[in-house]
Amino acid sequence: MTRVCNFSAGPAVLPEAVLKKAAEEMLDYKGCSMSVMELSHRGKEFKGIIETAEANVKEILGIPDNYKVLFLQGGASLQFAMIPLNLMKNNKKADYVHTGQWTKKAIAEAKKYGQVNIVASSEPDGYTYIPELDPSDFTKDADYFYIATNNTIYGTAYKNIPDTGAVPLVADMSSNIFSEPIDVSKFGVIFAGAQKNIGPAGVTLVIIREDLVNDVPESVPSLLSYKTYVNSGSMYNTPPCYSIYIAGLVFEWIKETGGLEAIKKINYEKAKLLYDYLDTSEMFSSPVNNESRSIMNIPFVTGVDALDAKFIQEASENGLKTLKGHRTVGGMRASIYNAMPVAGVKALVKFMKEFEKNNS
Ligand SMILES: *Cc1c(COP(=O)(O)O)cnc(C)c1O
Repeated sequence: MTRVCNFSAGPAVLPEAVLKKAAEEMLDYKGCSMSVMELSHRGKEFKGIIETAEANVKEILGIPDNYKVLFLQGGASLQFAMIPLNLMKNNKKADYVHTGQWTKKAIAEAKKYGQVNIVASSEPDGYTYIPELDPSDFTKDADYFYIATNNTIYGTAYKNIPDTGAVPLVADMSSNIFSEPIDVSKFGVIFAGAQKNIGPAGVTLVIIREDLVNDVPESVPSLLSYKTYVNSGSMYNTPPCYSIYIAGLVFEWIKETGGLEAIKKINYEKAKLLYDYLDTSEMFSSPVNNESRSIMNIPFVTGVDALDAKFIQEASENGLKTLKGHRTVGGMRASIYNAMPVAGVKALVKFMKEFEKNNS
């Protein structure tokens, strides 16, 4: 059986070693003669799975002791509401940097609960860069400051994390968490839907500084309060057990690969292969500003819609799948998350070169 090169933005490619391990353990998880899907979430086997997953997240990211690691449901999108619900508790004000569709949705949710200040926006230029931030525009008494570190649809990413002083920094890292080391202590809350760089859809990872969990407004429903998950070890109700199990296998795989320093090296190598070609090609180009380029999602265009469509079609026939850009921006996009091997990117660049030669 040959597997295709899957450049999907999410749900995305998973490490083959993880899928094989899951297949091996499908009918009989570690001698208990049951699938992980059939285990009680209160039993010792699943307790082992979730506790090991949590410990590995802490180890891989070097998370300080005053942070909690939580497994939630509702996708990254539910965090757009949970963040203001839980954190807009003092002055009911928050700063947002607007860099694409995901921040647009997050801003729309936050406006339901308080005052939103847009510190900067790249919307007028089609979100092709991360705007410069001027700290004099920051709201001094904001309850939090919000960014999306990697903009999946447009292929932009922050190269420097803003210093927000005493105001907690909240980051949507759905599409670049675990792609390289980060200093967790700079953040109040980090969240990520799993289906890009962590595992299957259905589980959302939240990393939250302990002091931010307190004083949740009384009106917040239990399942929407971070405190509920902290107090119950993410087991107030049945968690997404199987998604957590696969995520746990991915965390083991990251450790076996050499941790985030090793992963970072591979990711930069992959991104460089593609960007170097885009910058020399006469046919394909990157619409993204040089200083804001993502190493995870790389959009590219020919400038001619019919040629884009032909490229996507022929690439697919050659086992290079899901290269169509987001429905709102068109063109192509290669998502090259951790689980995309270097060989996959090499195959893509080789195909692009041939396509350029044959069509110019
Ligand atoms: C995919 C994505 C989301 C939405 O995730 P869901 O799990 O579908 O809610 C939010 N933010 C970013 C940056 C994403 O890439």
